[in-house]
Amino acid sequence: MALYVQKFGGTSVGSPDRIREVADHVARSRKRGDEVVLVVSAMGKETDELLRLADDVSKTKPGREMDMLITGGERKACALVAMALTDLGIESESFTGSQAGFLTDTTHRDAKILEVNPYRIRDAVDAGKVPVVGGSQGVSTDNDVTFFGRGGSDTTAVALAHALDAEACELYTDVPGVFTTDPRLVPEARKMDRISFDELLEMTATGCPKPAMRSVELARSYRVRLHVRSAFSWVPGTWVSEEASMENAIISAVTHDTSEAKMTVSGVPDKPGVAARLFRTLADAGINVDMIVQNVSADGATDISFTLPHEQVGIAEPTVAALVSEIGATGSVTDSNIGRVSLIGAGMQTNPGVAATMFETLSNAGINIEMISTSAIRISCVVREDQTEQAVMVLHAAFELHKPAEDRAEF
Ligand code: ADP
Ligand code: ASP
Ligand code: MG
Repeated sequence: MALYVQKFGGTSVGSPDRIREVADHVARSRKRGDEVVLVVSAMGKETDELLRLADDVSKTKPGREMDMLITGGERKACALVAMALTDLGIESESFTGSQAGFLTDTTHRDAKILEVNPYRIRDAVDAGKVPVVGGSQGVSTDNDVTFFGRGGSDTTAVALAHALDAEACELYTDVPGVFTTDPRLVPEARKMDRISFDELLEMTATGCPKPAMRSVELARSYRVRLHVRSAFSWVPGTWVSEEASMENAIISAVTHDTSEAKMTVSGVPDKPGVAARLFRTLADAGINVDMIVQNVSADGATDISFTLPHEQVGIAEPTVAALVSEIGATGSVTDSNIGRVSLIGAGMQTNPGVAATMFETLSNAGINIEMISTSAIRISCVVREDQTEQAVMVLHAAFELHKPAEDRAEF
Protein backbone atom coordinates (compact mmCIF):
# COMPACT_ATOMS: atom_id res chain seq x y z
CA MET A 1 0.00 0.00 0.00
CA ALA A 2 1.46 3.39 -1.02
CA LEU A 3 0.69 6.76 0.53
CA TYR A 4 -0.08 9.68 -1.81
CA VAL A 5 -0.55 13.32 -0.92
CA GLN A 6 -3.17 14.70 -3.32
CA LYS A 7 -3.63 18.48 -3.51
CA PHE A 8 -6.67 20.02 -5.23
CA GLY A 9 -6.53 23.66 -6.34
CA GLY A 10 -9.25 26.31 -6.23
CA THR A 11 -11.08 25.39 -9.46
CA SER A 12 -10.90 21.71 -8.54
CA VAL A 13 -12.96 22.30 -5.37
CA GLY A 14 -14.82 25.32 -6.79
CA SER A 15 -18.43 24.05 -6.44
CA PRO A 16 -20.47 21.39 -4.60
CA ASP A 17 -20.29 19.19 -7.72
CA ARG A 18 -16.54 19.58 -7.93
CA ILE A 19 -16.20 18.70 -4.24
CA ARG A 20 -18.21 15.51 -4.77
CA GLU A 21 -15.99 14.66 -7.73
CA VAL A 22 -12.90 15.05 -5.56
CA ALA A 23 -14.50 12.64 -3.09
CA ASP A 24 -15.14 10.16 -5.95
CA HIS A 25 -11.55 10.51 -7.04
CA VAL A 26 -10.34 9.68 -3.55
CA ALA A 27 -12.72 6.70 -3.40
CA ARG A 28 -11.16 5.33 -6.59
CA SER A 29 -7.61 5.88 -5.32
CA ARG A 30 -8.51 3.95 -2.18
CA LYS A 31 -10.06 1.12 -4.20
CA ARG A 32 -6.69 0.79 -5.95
CA GLY A 33 -5.28 0.13 -2.50
CA ASP A 34 -3.60 3.50 -1.95
CA GLU A 35 -3.64 5.61 1.21
CA VAL A 36 -4.52 9.25 0.62
CA VAL A 37 -3.85 12.50 2.46
CA LEU A 38 -5.69 15.44 0.90
CA VAL A 39 -4.68 19.08 0.81
CA VAL A 40 -7.18 21.64 -0.48
CA SER A 41 -7.18 25.29 -1.56
CA ALA A 42 -10.02 27.70 -0.94
CA MET A 43 -12.99 27.22 -3.29
CA GLY A 44 -12.77 28.97 -6.67
CA LYS A 45 -11.83 32.63 -6.36
CA GLU A 46 -12.57 32.82 -2.64
CA THR A 47 -9.07 33.98 -1.65
CA ASP A 48 -9.40 36.95 -4.03
CA GLU A 49 -12.84 37.74 -2.61
CA LEU A 50 -11.58 37.68 0.97
CA LEU A 51 -8.72 39.99 0.02
CA ARG A 52 -11.21 42.36 -1.62
CA LEU A 53 -13.42 42.32 1.47
CA ALA A 54 -10.44 43.29 3.61
CA ASP A 55 -9.69 46.18 1.22
CA ASP A 56 -13.28 47.37 1.55
CA VAL A 57 -13.29 47.24 5.35
CA SER A 58 -9.82 48.29 6.35
CA LYS A 59 -6.95 50.61 5.49
CA THR A 60 -4.54 49.14 8.01
CA LYS A 61 -5.22 45.44 7.35
CA PRO A 62 -3.20 44.05 10.30
CA GLY A 63 -1.24 40.95 9.25
CA ARG A 64 -2.56 38.80 12.07
CA GLU A 65 -6.18 39.47 11.11
CA MET A 66 -5.48 39.12 7.38
CA ASP A 67 -4.10 35.61 7.95
CA MET A 68 -7.06 34.67 10.14
CA LEU A 69 -9.35 35.88 7.34
CA ILE A 70 -7.61 34.32 4.33
CA THR A 71 -7.03 30.89 5.89
CA GLY A 72 -10.79 30.73 6.52
CA GLY A 73 -11.19 29.92 2.81
CA GLU A 74 -9.14 26.72 3.07
CA ARG A 75 -10.73 25.84 6.37
CA LYS A 76 -14.19 25.93 4.83
CA ALA A 77 -13.07 23.85 1.83
CA CYS A 78 -11.42 21.12 3.91
CA ALA A 79 -14.50 20.67 6.11
CA LEU A 80 -16.77 20.38 3.03
CA VAL A 81 -14.47 17.84 1.36
CA ALA A 82 -14.37 15.75 4.57
CA MET A 83 -18.20 15.79 4.65
CA ALA A 84 -18.43 14.67 1.01
CA LEU A 85 -16.04 11.79 1.75
CA THR A 86 -18.06 10.74 4.81
CA ASP A 87 -21.18 10.62 2.61
CA LEU A 88 -19.39 8.09 0.39
CA GLY A 89 -18.71 5.94 3.44
CA ILE A 90 -15.05 6.99 3.62
CA GLU A 91 -14.04 7.97 7.12
CA SER A 92 -12.48 11.39 6.98
CA GLU A 93 -11.36 14.24 9.22
CA SER A 94 -10.47 17.82 8.32
CA PHE A 95 -7.48 19.60 9.86
CA THR A 96 -6.34 23.21 9.97
CA GLY A 97 -2.66 23.83 9.25
CA SER A 98 -2.02 24.15 12.96
CA GLN A 99 -3.73 20.82 13.72
CA ALA A 100 -1.75 19.20 10.92
CA GLY A 101 1.47 20.26 12.67
CA PHE A 102 2.69 23.18 10.56
CA LEU A 103 4.85 25.45 12.74
CA THR A 104 5.92 28.69 11.03
CA ASP A 105 7.77 31.93 11.64
CA THR A 106 5.75 35.07 12.46
CA THR A 107 5.82 36.72 8.99
CA HIS A 108 2.12 37.20 8.32
CA ARG A 109 0.90 36.73 4.71
CA ASP A 110 4.21 35.14 3.77
CA ALA A 111 5.00 32.77 6.64
CA LYS A 112 7.86 30.30 6.28
CA ILE A 113 7.51 26.73 7.53
CA LEU A 114 9.89 25.96 10.40
CA GLU A 115 8.75 22.41 11.22
CA VAL A 116 6.08 19.92 10.22
CA ASN A 117 4.98 17.47 12.91
CA PRO A 118 2.04 15.69 11.28
CA TYR A 119 1.40 13.10 14.01
CA ARG A 120 -2.37 13.65 13.93
CA ILE A 121 -2.35 13.11 10.16
CA ARG A 122 -0.30 9.94 10.58
CA ASP A 123 -2.72 8.70 13.28
CA ALA A 124 -5.74 9.38 11.06
CA VAL A 125 -4.16 7.46 8.15
CA ASP A 126 -3.25 4.57 10.47
CA ALA A 127 -6.88 4.49 11.63
CA GLY A 128 -8.00 4.05 8.01
CA LYS A 129 -9.22 7.63 7.60
CA VAL A 130 -8.58 10.21 4.88
CA PRO A 131 -7.26 13.41 6.47
CA VAL A 132 -8.13 16.63 4.61
CA VAL A 133 -5.70 19.45 5.40
CA GLY A 134 -6.37 23.14 4.79
CA GLY A 135 -3.56 24.39 2.54
CA SER A 136 -1.24 27.38 2.85
CA GLN A 137 -1.52 27.75 6.64
CA GLY A 138 0.09 27.00 9.97
CA VAL A 139 0.60 28.36 13.45
CA SER A 140 3.45 30.72 14.33
CA THR A 141 5.97 30.53 17.14
CA ASP A 142 3.75 33.26 18.70
CA ASN A 143 0.74 30.90 18.50
CA ASP A 144 -1.04 32.94 15.83
CA VAL A 145 -2.58 31.62 12.63
CA THR A 146 -0.32 32.23 9.62
CA PHE A 147 -0.80 32.15 5.83
CA PHE A 148 1.99 30.98 3.48
CA GLY A 149 1.10 33.41 0.67
CA ARG A 150 -0.55 32.91 -2.72
CA GLY A 151 -0.18 29.42 -4.08
CA GLY A 152 0.90 28.20 -0.65
CA SER A 153 -1.29 25.08 -0.77
CA ASP A 154 1.20 23.50 -3.19
CA THR A 155 3.87 24.10 -0.54
CA THR A 156 1.69 22.51 2.16
CA ALA A 157 1.28 19.43 -0.03
CA VAL A 158 4.99 19.04 -0.78
CA ALA A 159 5.99 19.58 2.88
CA LEU A 160 3.45 16.96 4.00
CA ALA A 161 4.58 14.49 1.34
CA HIS A 162 8.12 14.85 2.66
CA ALA A 163 7.16 14.64 6.35
CA LEU A 164 4.99 11.55 5.73
CA ASP A 165 7.53 9.99 3.36
CA ALA A 166 4.81 9.69 0.71
CA GLU A 167 5.28 7.84 -2.58
CA ALA A 168 4.54 11.07 -4.47
CA CYS A 169 2.90 14.45 -4.20
CA GLU A 170 0.11 14.85 -6.78
CA LEU A 171 -0.92 18.42 -7.61
CA TYR A 172 -4.36 18.32 -9.24
CA THR A 173 -5.24 21.44 -11.21
CA ASP A 174 -7.41 22.76 -14.04
CA VAL A 175 -4.90 21.90 -16.80
CA PRO A 176 -3.53 18.41 -17.53
CA GLY A 177 0.06 19.22 -16.51
CA VAL A 178 2.90 21.67 -17.11
CA PHE A 179 2.78 22.98 -20.68
CA THR A 180 5.36 24.43 -23.08
CA THR A 181 3.62 27.75 -22.41
CA ASP A 182 0.34 28.91 -20.87
CA PRO A 183 -2.28 26.88 -22.79
CA ARG A 184 -4.80 29.67 -22.28
CA LEU A 185 -2.58 31.92 -24.39
CA VAL A 186 -1.33 29.39 -26.96
CA PRO A 187 -3.84 26.57 -27.57
CA GLU A 188 -1.16 24.55 -29.45
CA ALA A 189 1.02 24.38 -26.32
CA ARG A 190 2.12 20.82 -25.46
CA LYS A 191 1.89 19.08 -22.15
CA MET A 192 5.31 17.89 -21.03
CA ASP A 193 5.52 14.30 -19.78
CA ARG A 194 8.59 15.13 -17.72
CA ILE A 195 10.53 18.20 -16.69
CA SER A 196 13.57 18.70 -14.46
CA PHE A 197 13.37 20.60 -11.16
CA ASP A 198 15.88 23.15 -12.47
CA GLU A 199 13.84 23.98 -15.55
CA LEU A 200 10.57 24.09 -13.64
CA LEU A 201 12.13 26.42 -11.08
CA GLU A 202 13.23 28.79 -13.86
CA MET A 203 9.69 28.62 -15.28
CA THR A 204 8.03 29.43 -11.97
CA ALA A 205 10.54 32.22 -11.28
CA THR A 206 9.64 33.85 -14.61
CA GLY A 207 5.86 33.78 -14.51
CA CYS A 208 4.51 30.20 -14.73
CA PRO A 209 1.98 30.07 -11.86
CA LYS A 210 1.90 26.30 -11.60
CA PRO A 211 3.23 24.83 -9.32
CA ALA A 212 4.02 27.59 -6.82
CA MET A 213 7.77 28.32 -6.87
CA ARG A 214 8.34 27.61 -3.18
CA SER A 215 6.78 24.17 -3.52
CA VAL A 216 9.17 23.35 -6.36
CA GLU A 217 12.16 24.52 -4.30
CA LEU A 218 11.03 22.38 -1.39
CA ALA A 219 10.42 19.34 -3.60
CA ARG A 220 13.88 19.72 -5.10
CA SER A 221 15.58 20.03 -1.70
CA TYR A 222 13.84 16.96 -0.28
CA ARG A 223 13.59 14.95 -3.49
CA VAL A 224 9.81 14.73 -3.31
CA ARG A 225 8.40 13.18 -6.51
CA LEU A 226 5.98 15.71 -7.97
CA HIS A 227 3.18 14.91 -10.39
CA VAL A 228 1.20 17.86 -11.80
CA ARG A 229 -2.05 16.55 -13.31
CA SER A 230 -5.66 17.23 -14.20
CA ALA A 231 -8.39 17.17 -11.57
CA PHE A 232 -10.85 16.36 -14.36
CA SER A 233 -9.35 13.15 -15.77
CA TRP A 234 -7.07 10.21 -14.93
CA VAL A 235 -4.65 11.00 -17.76
CA PRO A 236 -1.04 11.08 -16.50
CA GLY A 237 0.25 14.63 -16.16
CA THR A 238 3.79 15.99 -15.86
CA TRP A 239 6.37 14.28 -13.65
CA VAL A 240 9.02 16.52 -12.14
CA SER A 241 12.35 14.88 -11.40
CA GLU A 242 16.09 15.37 -11.14
CA GLU A 243 16.68 14.05 -14.63
CA ALA A 244 16.69 15.81 -17.96
CA SER A 245 13.62 17.40 -19.40
CA MET A 246 11.05 16.09 -21.80
CA GLU A 247 12.55 13.95 -24.55
CA ASN A 248 15.84 15.88 -24.23
CA ALA A 249 14.35 19.02 -25.70
CA ILE A 250 16.72 21.94 -26.37
CA ILE A 251 14.03 24.39 -25.29
CA SER A 252 11.34 23.29 -22.85
CA ALA A 253 9.10 26.30 -22.39
CA VAL A 254 8.30 29.98 -22.89
CA THR A 255 7.02 31.95 -19.90
CA HIS A 256 5.89 35.52 -19.40
CA ASP A 257 5.39 37.89 -16.54
CA THR A 258 3.78 41.32 -16.49
CA SER A 259 3.94 41.80 -12.72
CA GLU A 260 7.07 43.96 -12.76
CA ALA A 261 7.97 47.58 -13.44
CA LYS A 262 11.31 49.05 -14.49
CA MET A 263 13.16 51.90 -12.79
CA THR A 264 16.09 53.73 -14.37
CA VAL A 265 18.51 55.88 -12.44
CA SER A 266 20.33 58.16 -14.88
CA GLY A 267 23.62 60.02 -14.73
CA VAL A 268 25.04 57.77 -12.01
CA PRO A 269 28.71 58.67 -11.27
CA ASP A 270 30.84 55.82 -12.65
CA LYS A 271 32.97 55.05 -9.62
CA PRO A 272 33.38 52.11 -7.22
CA GLY A 273 30.72 51.69 -4.55
CA VAL A 274 27.83 53.56 -6.18
CA ALA A 275 25.90 50.49 -7.41
CA ALA A 276 26.57 48.82 -4.06
CA ARG A 277 25.08 51.83 -2.29
CA LEU A 278 21.98 51.90 -4.51
CA PHE A 279 21.18 48.20 -4.22
CA ARG A 280 22.01 48.00 -0.51
CA THR A 281 19.53 50.81 0.13
CA LEU A 282 16.87 49.05 -1.97
CA ALA A 283 17.54 45.73 -0.18
CA ASP A 284 17.27 47.42 3.22
CA ALA A 285 13.86 48.78 2.12
CA GLY A 286 12.79 45.19 1.38
CA ILE A 287 12.59 45.66 -2.39
CA ASN A 288 12.95 42.53 -4.54
CA VAL A 289 15.12 43.72 -7.38
CA ASP A 290 15.14 41.25 -10.26
CA MET A 291 16.92 42.10 -13.55
CA ILE A 292 19.69 44.75 -13.50
CA VAL A 293 21.34 46.44 -16.48
CA GLN A 294 24.11 49.04 -16.34
CA ASN A 295 24.95 50.94 -19.53
CA VAL A 296 28.44 51.75 -20.74
CA SER A 297 29.80 54.85 -19.18
CA ALA A 298 29.90 58.09 -21.16
CA ASP A 299 31.58 61.17 -19.67
CA GLY A 300 32.08 59.35 -16.36
CA ALA A 301 28.36 58.78 -15.83
CA THR A 302 26.15 55.77 -16.50
CA ASP A 303 22.49 54.67 -16.38
CA ILE A 304 21.35 51.78 -14.20
CA SER A 305 17.99 50.09 -14.84
CA PHE A 306 16.38 47.40 -12.73
CA THR A 307 13.03 45.63 -12.48
CA LEU A 308 10.93 45.24 -9.34
CA PRO A 309 7.37 44.10 -8.49
CA HIS A 310 4.66 46.66 -9.37
CA GLU A 311 3.42 46.71 -5.78
CA GLN A 312 6.85 47.83 -4.50
CA VAL A 313 7.14 50.88 -6.78
CA GLY A 314 5.46 53.01 -4.11
CA ILE A 315 8.23 52.24 -1.60
CA ALA A 316 11.05 52.26 -4.15
CA GLU A 317 10.35 55.69 -5.71
CA PRO A 318 10.97 57.86 -2.62
CA THR A 319 13.90 55.65 -1.62
CA VAL A 320 15.55 56.10 -5.01
CA ALA A 321 14.70 59.81 -5.17
CA ALA A 322 16.49 60.41 -1.86
CA LEU A 323 19.49 58.47 -3.09
CA VAL A 324 19.71 60.29 -6.43
CA SER A 325 20.83 63.52 -4.76
CA GLU A 326 23.07 61.70 -2.25
CA ILE A 327 25.07 59.83 -4.91
CA GLY A 328 25.06 62.71 -7.37
CA ALA A 329 22.93 61.06 -10.07
CA THR A 330 20.79 63.22 -12.37
CA GLY A 331 17.37 61.62 -11.95
CA SER A 332 15.18 58.54 -12.01
CA VAL A 333 12.13 57.36 -13.96
CA THR A 334 9.67 54.51 -13.51
CA ASP A 335 8.19 52.57 -16.40
CA SER A 336 5.18 50.47 -15.39
CA ASN A 337 4.33 49.15 -18.85
CA ILE A 338 6.89 46.42 -19.29
CA GLY A 339 6.60 42.67 -19.68
CA ARG A 340 9.17 39.93 -19.57
CA VAL A 341 9.33 36.93 -21.85
CA SER A 342 11.66 34.02 -21.07
CA LEU A 343 12.90 30.96 -22.90
CA ILE A 344 13.82 28.00 -20.70
CA GLY A 345 15.71 24.88 -21.64
CA ALA A 346 18.61 22.82 -20.33
CA GLY A 347 19.69 22.20 -23.95
CA MET A 348 20.52 25.86 -24.61
CA GLN A 349 23.85 25.34 -22.81
CA THR A 350 25.12 23.29 -25.76
CA ASN A 351 23.23 25.08 -28.55
CA PRO A 352 24.81 28.49 -29.12
CA GLY A 353 22.21 29.61 -31.69
CA VAL A 354 19.31 29.86 -29.26
CA ALA A 355 19.86 33.47 -28.16
CA ALA A 356 20.31 34.67 -31.76
CA THR A 357 17.13 32.90 -32.89
CA MET A 358 15.23 34.41 -29.96
CA PHE A 359 16.34 37.97 -30.75
CA GLU A 360 15.76 37.54 -34.52
CA THR A 361 12.26 36.20 -33.87
CA LEU A 362 11.36 39.17 -31.69
CA SER A 363 12.86 41.63 -34.13
CA ASN A 364 10.98 40.08 -37.10
CA ALA A 365 7.76 40.59 -35.14
CA GLY A 366 8.65 44.25 -34.58
CA ILE A 367 9.17 43.72 -30.86
CA ASN A 368 11.91 45.85 -29.33
CA ILE A 369 14.09 44.30 -26.59
CA GLU A 370 14.75 46.71 -23.71
CA MET A 371 16.74 44.51 -21.32
CA ILE A 372 18.27 41.03 -21.50
CA SER A 373 19.28 38.68 -18.72
CA THR A 374 20.43 35.06 -18.81
CA SER A 375 21.17 32.05 -16.63
CA ALA A 376 22.70 28.78 -17.82
CA ILE A 377 19.28 27.50 -18.85
CA ARG A 378 17.23 30.70 -19.40
CA ILE A 379 17.17 33.85 -21.54
CA SER A 380 14.79 36.65 -20.55
CA CYS A 381 13.93 39.81 -22.50
CA VAL A 382 12.06 42.84 -21.24
CA VAL A 383 9.65 44.16 -23.89
CA ARG A 384 6.65 46.53 -23.97
CA GLU A 385 3.83 45.15 -21.83
CA ASP A 386 1.32 45.21 -24.68
CA GLN A 387 3.66 43.12 -26.85
CA THR A 388 4.36 40.44 -24.24
CA GLU A 389 1.68 37.97 -25.31
CA GLN A 390 2.63 38.36 -28.95
CA ALA A 391 6.25 37.69 -27.98
CA VAL A 392 5.20 34.44 -26.30
CA MET A 393 3.27 33.34 -29.39
CA VAL A 394 6.02 34.07 -31.91
CA LEU A 395 8.71 32.42 -29.77
CA HIS A 396 6.58 29.33 -29.15
CA ALA A 397 6.10 28.98 -32.90
CA ALA A 398 9.71 29.79 -33.85
CA PHE A 399 11.14 27.13 -31.54
CA GLU A 400 8.45 24.68 -32.72
CA LEU A 401 7.37 23.92 -29.18
CA HIS A 402 4.01 22.67 -30.50
CA LYS A 403 5.87 19.67 -31.97
CA PRO A 404 7.28 16.65 -30.12
CA ALA A 405 10.91 17.43 -29.19
CA GLU A 406 12.38 14.88 -31.62
CA ASP A 407 10.62 16.54 -34.56
CA ARG A 408 11.87 20.06 -33.86
CA ALA A 409 14.52 21.81 -35.91
CA GLU A 410 17.96 22.63 -34.41
CA PHE A 411 18.81 26.22 -33.61
P1 ADP B 1 -4.44 25.86 -8.84
O1 ADP B 1 -5.53 26.81 -8.47
O2 ADP B 1 -4.90 24.48 -9.22
O3 ADP B 1 -3.36 25.83 -7.82
P2 ADP B 1 -3.46 27.90 -10.69
O4 ADP B 1 -4.75 28.53 -11.14
O5 ADP B 1 -2.66 28.62 -9.68
O6 ADP B 1 -3.78 26.39 -10.20
O7 ADP B 1 -2.56 27.59 -11.97
C1 ADP B 1 -3.09 26.84 -13.06
C2 ADP B 1 -3.13 27.74 -14.29
O8 ADP B 1 -1.80 28.05 -14.67
C3 ADP B 1 -3.71 27.07 -15.53
O9 ADP B 1 -5.09 27.26 -15.63
C4 ADP B 1 -2.95 27.72 -16.69
O10 ADP B 1 -3.74 28.61 -17.46
C5 ADP B 1 -1.84 28.51 -16.02
N1 ADP B 1 -0.53 28.31 -16.65
C6 ADP B 1 0.31 29.29 -17.07
N2 ADP B 1 1.40 28.79 -17.63
C7 ADP B 1 1.28 27.44 -17.60
C8 ADP B 1 2.10 26.37 -18.08
N3 ADP B 1 3.28 26.58 -18.69
N4 ADP B 1 1.67 25.11 -17.86
C9 ADP B 1 0.49 24.87 -17.22
N5 ADP B 1 -0.32 25.85 -16.77
C10 ADP B 1 0.05 27.12 -16.95
N1 ASP C 1 -6.02 29.88 -1.88
C1 ASP C 1 -4.71 30.45 -1.81
C2 ASP C 1 -4.37 31.16 -3.10
O1 ASP C 1 -5.17 31.25 -3.98
C3 ASP C 1 -3.66 29.43 -1.47
C4 ASP C 1 -3.56 28.32 -2.48
O2 ASP C 1 -4.54 27.89 -3.02
O3 ASP C 1 -2.47 27.86 -2.76
O4 ASP C 1 -3.30 31.67 -3.25
MG1 MG D 1 -3.52 28.35 -7.19
